[in-house]
Amino acid sequence: MDKMERLSNTVRDIAVGGGAVATGIATTATLAGGPPSTELSYVLPRAKSAVVFALPLDQDNIESFLKKEDPAGVNIDNRRVNTMTSGIALEISEYLNMKGFESAPVISNAVYRKDVPGGPYSEMPPLSHRYLAVRSGIGHFGLSGNVILDRYGAAVILGSAVTAAELVPTEALDPEDNYCDGCRLCMSACASGLMAADDTTDVTIGGVEFTYACRRTYSRCDYVCGGFTGLHPSGKWSTWSPARFPIPETDEEFYPALMEAVEPYRNRPRQEFGCNIYHPLVPGNRLDFTCGHCQFVCHPDKEVRKQRYRMITSGGVVIQLEDGSLKAVPPEEATAHLAAMDEKARSMYE
Ligand code: SF4
Ligand code: SF4
Repeated sequence: MDKMERLSNTVRDIAVGGGAVATGIATTATLAGGPPSTELSYVLPRAKSAVVFALPLDQDNIESFLKKEDPAGVNIDNRRVNTMTSGIALEISEYLNMKGFESAPVISNAVYRKDVPGGPYSEMPPLSHRYLAVRSGIGHFGLSGNVILDRYGAAVILGSAVTAAELVPTEALDPEDNYCDGCRLCMSACASGLMAADDTTDVTIGGVEFTYACRRTYSRCDYVCGGFTGLHPSGKWSTWSPARFPIPETDEEFYPALMEAVEPYRNRPRQEFGCNIYHPLVPGNRLDFTCGHCQFVCHPDKEVRKQRYRMITSGGVVIQLEDGSLKAVPPEEATAHLAAMDEKARSMYE
């Protein structure tokens, strides 16, 4: 085994030691011709490789979240796994730096390029962990555009560290082994309509083609997953957001709708899970994780997927009580709860 093979094994082992369930290596060659967010040089001008890895979210928290029984577990776990993943990226990067290879960590989430039109609000990451992950064989693209793994589904957090070391690349997985069967439950579980039902995005990275549902404006997910609103257009179920501002139809309507919902968002009490999530683009900077349905519904077992979809759609509608706590109730009860509020209180929700 030569030096670079040994080093490649070591950095992947650092990730495994920190809890990664899949690791891989992408290089400038295996990423060649990919979208701009696969350019390692954006993070490190002399970069040659990236170590990529996935940490699982705790499956035990997911179903009580989807049934709208308990939002705390998923929020706490999300915060901790993101922190672990970014920490592993830092460990790998510093290990390689110590070995004489210039390297840089890439934080898992909530960091965006400032030097593009729209600045950070464009939500273009320094590097796309997703693209690096599918090209290096961490997982497949599901139709959702999320990276899915055989045992863990889409419930993973991805991380990367970029280095000038010429590590040994790993190959993309065989598309035949992708469990995504096009069930579209990810789309049905998304109140925002982020994923286009009738259009796909094709990307070629290092000569390998990948396809997933075209993502419409990210303002859709910002509006719903960001917690500005949460009531599905059917009125029958919601995310963990107690707000019910209308969900528009066209992409162009989403950003103005989101802007309208900012003040009410600021005025609503936040949840205290003991693990505050801060996000630089969120009004007031405090984020409560309210959705993630496309990620959580996508279990490798189709029967579990169907059960989880039923949990989302039969779990009722979330309301906020006077003490700021959240509770899921039948849709009619939610309507009556809102109707009984005075105008000022009600304006925080609809
Ligand atoms: S929910 Fe179904 S269609 Fe969507 S990514 Fe998962 S398996 Fe594919
Ligand atoms: S996180 Fe929620 S709103 Fe965002 S794309 Fe997934 S299901 Fe849709």
